[in-house]
Amino acid sequence: MGDACSRLHVDSGMSAASPNGLASRIKALAKERNAVILAHNYERPEVQDAADYVGDSLGLSREAAKTSAEVIVFCGVHFMAETAAILSPNKTVLLPDLAAGCSLADTITADQLRAWKAEHPGAVVVSYVNTSAAVKAESDYCCTSGNAVEIVKSIPSDQEILFLPDIFLGAHVRRVTGRQDFHIWPGECHVHAGITPFSLARQREEHPGAELLVHPECGCATSVVEAMSAGAIPSEGVQVLSTEGMIRRPAESGKREFIVATETGILYRLRRANPDKTFYAASDRAECQYMKMTTLPKVLHSLEAMQHHITVPEDVAARARLALERMVAVGGSAPQQQLAGVAGFDPGE
Ligand code: SF4
Repeated sequence: MGDACSRLHVDSGMSAASPNGLASRIKALAKERNAVILAHNYERPEVQDAADYVGDSLGLSREAAKTSAEVIVFCGVHFMAETAAILSPNKTVLLPDLAAGCSLADTITADQLRAWKAEHPGAVVVSYVNTSAAVKAESDYCCTSGNAVEIVKSIPSDQEILFLPDIFLGAHVRRVTGRQDFHIWPGECHVHAGITPFSLARQREEHPGAELLVHPECGCATSVVEAMSAGAIPSEGVQVLSTEGMIRRPAESGKREFIVATETGILYRLRRANPDKTFYAASDRAECQYMKMTTLPKVLHSLEAMQHHITVPEDVAARARLALERMVAVGGSAPQQQLAGVAGFDPGE
């Protein structure tokens, strides 16, 4: 089918086509284009089903870097596609919907960071991965929620640090490391607002036998980590886990019920991988509308029209790559190792 004809079909209501039909057309076209489809855990179920690989942002970046495909269709948000483009400069990275942004990444621009650095000359800049390429390029280190503590600990203790953009992750890192000269950008992800200590306490009261699984990837549950390290959430029966740890934990645990504190998209994977267990969202309101912007018709259209092509200027990419490489070089990425400062955390998981 020609591109124009296919596009017309999309525009004229192809969303009415069955998810299976769309998924097969996507698979066939991906093969023709030598493309791989990567999807974040928080994407819609049907988009996850159509993907070749589903994971967290770090896992997707690693897949992007190692794939032999020439084209990467990134079903996630803009900063993640930029990261894939930085790590895979010779591949074509496509984002199905350009409007798929991130409220946390949008809290700081490169100009704002340059102004902040000017107020603190000589400070080391540590940026959570939820930032634009231009902000990464102004940073000394990138970090994940899993290795933020370890990265900060690797920096000499008398060194002034600027931490951005997640206020909750920053507060947690400052508490655990005891750093004094540590400044935190007041950014936050809107999704975490749905997961409050109150909503968690209510769910734990309603399901007293359930284990609480916390997945702090993406800023949507870093507020829970911070509340736990501050003692505002009792840590008994709580597991802070990476994506793969989340998927594995129900089978390893003797519990039958689980309350899940993260963006609700991961429930689909959890339920599919553990059909005999029951999962409750810590809050049904914890949904990222940016992640949900990607639909199957948009993925198909992205392949047909080869858009939207995400590129990062080489000088920006080179500096951002350095910060990302330092992130990978310092420690692992598993939250169960690096969030060990959280009270009640079970390092044996
Ligand atoms: S869940 Fe929050 S941090 Fe993650 S992409 Fe959505 S807005 Fe950004």
